[in-house]
Amino acid sequence: MATAAQAGTMNDTVQGLILKQIDFKEYDVILTVLTKEYGKISLRAAGARRMTSKNAGSILPYTLAEFQFDYRPEQTMFRMKTARTIKLYRHMHEDLAASYAAGAASSTADAFTLPGEEFPERESVFVYTEKCFSLLDEGRETNLVLCLYLTDMMDLFGIQPEVDGCAVCGSTKVAAVSAEEGGFLCAEHAKEVGIPLQSKERLQRFRLIVKAGLEHIDAAAKAGGAEKFDLKVLEDIIRLHGAMNMKSFALYNRLFSIE
Ligand SMILES: [Zn+2]
Repeated sequence: MATAAQAGTMNDTVQGLILKQIDFKEYDVILTVLTKEYGKISLRAAGARRMTSKNAGSILPYTLAEFQFDYRPEQTMFRMKTARTIKLYRHMHEDLAASYAAGAASSTADAFTLPGEEFPERESVFVYTEKCFSLLDEGRETNLVLCLYLTDMMDLFGIQPEVDGCAVCGSTKVAAVSAEEGGFLCAEHAKEVGIPLQSKERLQRFRLIVKAGLEHIDAAAKAGGAEKFDLKVLEDIIRLHGAMNMKSFALYNRLFSIE
């Protein structure tokens, strides 16, 4: 059996986004943390719910913090030693829509990743999620930020919607968008699956959102931003094709997004 010194390192200092915090036992909490280096990990913060805890103020969900713990490659749960807030995203937390959007983005990142999972793009999950929080903190339109974040994540995991032609026949004369079919449909196939036709403007805007990603948020905002319709379609595609629990989206939608 390898010793700790061989298998891992001592006192690793890693920055991570806190996606989730759950109470554990009487005084502990378990944090779900998204890091650049190790992907998604869990940190157990012992005694964090005690009044005297010096870490309690540094482990708030939807913040960027620096953690100290001993990393071991065969583990996905670690005992947190210290935490220090790096970025609080204060404006985001003070705005109800923005903070719920951060919750929806966090649950997306959580659902798309597995603890300790090795995949080449895991650094991008961190980068996109941090960018999403930063844009929400800047007060950008929450629907648009979420739409662009979702399209970036879908692109990363290979489930982006088909927006260059009908998802069934490939025709470029598109007339509708279907979450079930995973993208645009021509009039004939829209009729076949029984979904309503959409205006050219709406389809063009949806296509732009899918192509833009967070990187081109200014162009997407200039072109009209995002409607509730766009977010609903993207969310449905992820739900249907990414098989994830979108509870936080249900909450966000109920409060801010459903027409
Ligand atoms: Zn077709």
